[in-house]
Amino acid sequence: APALLSVRDLQTHFRTASGTVKAVDGVSFDIQAGSSLGIVGESGSGKSVTSLSIMRLVEPPGFVAGGRILFKGRDLVSFSEREIRDLRGRDICLVFQDPMAALNPVYKVGDQVIEALQAHQDIGGRAARERAIELFRMVGIPAPERRVDDYPHKLSGGMRQRVTIAIALANEPDLLILDEPTTALDVTIQAQILDLVRDLRRRINTAVLLITHDIGVVKEMCDEVVVMYGGRVMERGPTAQVTGAPRHPYTVGLLASIPSPGMKGQRLNAIGGSVPSPLRMPPGCPFQPRCPHAMPVCATMPSLRRTDSGSLAACWLYEERA
Ligand code: SF4
Ligand code: MG
Repeated sequence: APALLSVRDLQTHFRTASGTVKAVDGVSFDIQAGSSLGIVGESGSGKSVTSLSIMRLVEPPGFVAGGRILFKGRDLVSFSEREIRDLRGRDICLVFQDPMAALNPVYKVGDQVIEALQAHQDIGGRAARERAIELFRMVGIPAPERRVDDYPHKLSGGMRQRVTIAIALANEPDLLILDEPTTALDVTIQAQILDLVRDLRRRINTAVLLITHDIGVVKEMCDEVVVMYGGRVMERGPTAQVTGAPRHPYTVGLLASIPSPGMKGQRLNAIGGSVPSPLRMPPGCPFQPRCPHAMPVCATMPSLRRTDSGSLAACWLYEERA
């Protein structure tokens, strides 16, 4: 079956005074209906810009400079403003890191769900309120009949994120994009929100694109994974292969940074150095300055090749050498 979402050679650039930054530079992946894909990488890897590009929410001086974003076979890059607005909130929904920024502080949370419903469906006030209560119940908000009349500031961070998920699911989207949905929340609440997303996926068959810096979360949540660095795909494939038998040195580093159960909250800095400024990306493999295996040929960008684990990796260790 054709993929629900098919991103092909996406290029999203930013014009700056010091030159063009290729925040996303040739990214491709597919998401099948009802499945889950994680995009993982450190901040500045281009993962959020990828999700914003899909939603056509990249703001100037950023712009989609090339590639295709096929949703059910139609290219979102060529959609009119109006078509994309109809699609957002109905077919594809985005949940951000900070629920407070996503909610309007002066409206009751229930009314914000009702607004989302009425923006895309012909549904009367009473029925919409009933549906809002039902959605609140579905996302695990206790006493939903009362909570719908609360203002956002009355709710905890975790409850607010449940509200934004309820809003996102109001119109039963085919694809739910979650961009670091738990980063702003404390650790116990993080686990609860991830459990919720997993449970919802089983119940409503929405495809999930999860953006995260935490490969441990991807391991628990996603069928497939794309590892990004410096705007490029370093490795991608089924999660079991990519995390069970990582082939790209960056994936190996990310996995080594997952805190072991005995050292909760502690993060090993397994990868030395930090992400270079996007204006100072080295030519060739962007991971070069931090890679323990770097060699002269790495000054030229390797292409994605099938590795022995079954994943695709962009690394000279896996290129066929002449
Ligand atoms: Fe390291 Fe070279 Fe592979 Fe890049 S291409 S990850 S620098 S070995
Ligand atoms: Mg981000």
